Amino acid sequence: MVRVGLVMLQGARHAHISTLESASEELGLALEIIELRTPLDLQTSGIDAIVFPGGESTTIRLTGANDLNNLLPALFDWLRTNENTPVLATCAGAILLAQPNDSGTPLVNATVNRNGYGSQADSFQAMLEVPTLGEPYLGVFIRAPRFASIGEGAQAIATHNQEVVGIRQENRLAVTFHPELSGDLRFHTWLLKLAEGEKT
Ligand code: GLN
Repeated sequence: MVRVGLVMLQGARHAHISTLESASEELGLALEIIELRTPLDLQTSGIDAIVFPGGESTTIRLTGANDLNNLLPALFDWLRTNENTPVLATCAGAILLAQPNDSGTPLVNATVNRNGYGSQADSFQAMLEVPTLGEPYLGVFIRAPRFASIGEGAQAIATHNQEVVGIRQENRLAVTFHPELSGDLRFHTWLLKLAEGEKT
């Protein structure tokens, strides 16, 4: 059984849920998805992995840190405490891990430029090189950020025309595209395998 906490602040949460379900079925692994809406949800015991969907990082910062809901600072604290827990952060999720903009250390050691390819009209799909996964992977880029720098401890895992579009730092995967929208389960499978590995 793997329990995946899904950050429910914004983004294609349901696409992540169905991709996680298909990936777990393919692996023959029981899956429970814990929807993270408030800091209390983070206290659910045995969260084995986190998925942090994209969306709009400014909106996520606003909806995740206000008087009604302060999930975002609680999530950052939780991630700093549970530093081995596997994480898949996509697009705006990757921006927030790299640039939490709080007083703590970044959750992945990189800097990003938001909307690095331009506006919505410059959204695109392209085949990526992801050596760990083998065959090329279809990357869906929606108002995607671009890595400006990649620091110590973070390694490139995915490239597009030689430009890094995904990094891994320990068990945290941060990608600037949307693996939940490409119909290819391999990133979610990777996350579930990392989560399973941490338990054994
Ligand atoms: N452009 C968005 C931002 O700056 C990210 C887009 C996405 O998550 N698809 O937060």
